[in-house]
Amino acid sequence: MNYADSARIKAILINCWFSYTEDIKKADIVIFDTCSVRQKSEDKITWKLKEIWKHQKVWITGCMIQHNLRNSKLKIKNWTKWTPSSAGENLKTWNFLWTLKSINPQIIWLSTQEINNNSKLNIQNSTFIPVNNAFNPIFHNLTQKRKNIELFRRIDDTWFLPLILKKFWYEISYDKEILNEYEKILPIIWNHQNKSSGIIPINTSMNAHTRTAYIPISTWCNQFCSYCIVPYARGLEKNFPVKQIVDEAKVHLKNWTKEIVLIWQIVNKHPDFVKIIKEILKLPWLKWLRYTSPYPTFYSPQLLQLHEKESKLCPHIHIPLQSWSDNILKKMFRWYDSKQCYQFIDKIRKLKKQISITTDIIVWFPWETEKDFKQTLKLIEYWNFDMIYIGIYSPRPWTLADRKYPNDIPYKTKHSRRSRLNNLLIKISKKNNLQEIWTIKTVLINEISKDWIFWYDESLKQIIIHNKFQNIRIWDFVKVKITDWIPFKLKGEMLKRQNDEAIKW
Ligand code: SF4
Repeated sequence: MNYADSARIKAILINCWFSYTEDIKKADIVIFDTCSVRQKSEDKITWKLKEIWKHQKVWITGCMIQHNLRNSKLKIKNWTKWTPSSAGENLKTWNFLWTLKSINPQIIWLSTQEINNNSKLNIQNSTFIPVNNAFNPIFHNLTQKRKNIELFRRIDDTWFLPLILKKFWYEISYDKEILNEYEKILPIIWNHQNKSSGIIPINTSMNAHTRTAYIPISTWCNQFCSYCIVPYARGLEKNFPVKQIVDEAKVHLKNWTKEIVLIWQIVNKHPDFVKIIKEILKLPWLKWLRYTSPYPTFYSPQLLQLHEKESKLCPHIHIPLQSWSDNILKKMFRWYDSKQCYQFIDKIRKLKKQISITTDIIVWFPWETEKDFKQTLKLIEYWNFDMIYIGIYSPRPWTLADRKYPNDIPYKTKHSRRSRLNNLLIKISKKNNLQEIWTIKTVLINEISKDWIFWYDESLKQIIIHNKFQNIRIWDFVKVKITDWIPFKLKGEMLKRQNDEAIKW
């Protein structure tokens, strides 16, 4: 979601005539699109801020901002008493209360100095509410330490950015067309000189190449798993219309995108998910279609049939099961049990086509006994997952687990469980990788370094190879023979023509 969010921020700013740099040292403004899923991601911001030069402005957005807005709400009683003249006369408490109660508040958080310095500030005529950072302990502490933080804002208010920037700091011009609600923002650049010559899509990708587009099909989540901050940080579910999703895919594909990844926290819960997949599969130029992350109980038989029939729908299902103990699943508020997990994986394994299965497992969840843990290990080994992403339980504010569950697993046990799970993963990875040796794969090049090329195949297996070719680029699809393995990765050789050129797809 952060890649998709960042692409939208980038699109809005480029449309306001800002230019983008990958080199953080060259930036006048550094934007942090934060994540709150684990405490570690929030802590990273404090560290990263130290790397920013004092002359560079900083904006902070994303989940960390959204859930901290709630932090301010808790302290609402104190605000009426807290009336320093520096906060500006316009910062009336009723205004702020109204803002928090409104469904779509357009709040920006500014420093006292910013509010005082800005002669243009006139709240009565504004369509947004500037609020003093001092009202929020986290924002206040950050701005005390880092005076170059210019702005905190919600990701949902991205569409609003041009208005804020123009009002406060920058002489900018922009097309009114870009002022769309968050879910309608297309990550594209309008051609300012000549609109008829088309539009260019923007991807921000976890890959080095830009030929993968991450398309959100809904936002946020109503599941309220007991450990998860997403519903508190980002709000309740909103499904995007099929036409809008397919139109976004068309824009990307017309502009050289080869791989589309449909995203949402519970991607297969969209009521028209199968229809969306079918519509996108019909589009020309598409090579690979993926989606992430599904929820086990929202899988429809039609979706599994599509995996069997459609060659462009990647043969890979990443299904976050989190645990295989009924006891823990119940405490996590995951609305399935181990029997359903078993039946679901069994269904996938019985499909006519071989589908790679990966999963997420949370370790150290409160009350996890040795028996619970062993049960998860046993099933992981039984099903031979292609990859397991281990999430270490991190208590998150607002969640039920943080408020009501104990942090009762001793440190020693935590570490021994993690290493046992890791050893099992290496064993499974070896077993699976050995079966891949001498197979031929079509892979998408992801990164090229001086000596090595990094790629992944349609089931998202990572493959590395010595770089001996001149005629390949990032985002090429090429044929590779697997020759060796290391834990969690395969090694391969590129197939070549007689003239030594790589065979491309
Ligand atoms: S399904 Fe559960 S874990 Fe996933 S985003 Fe929603 S609340 Fe969080």
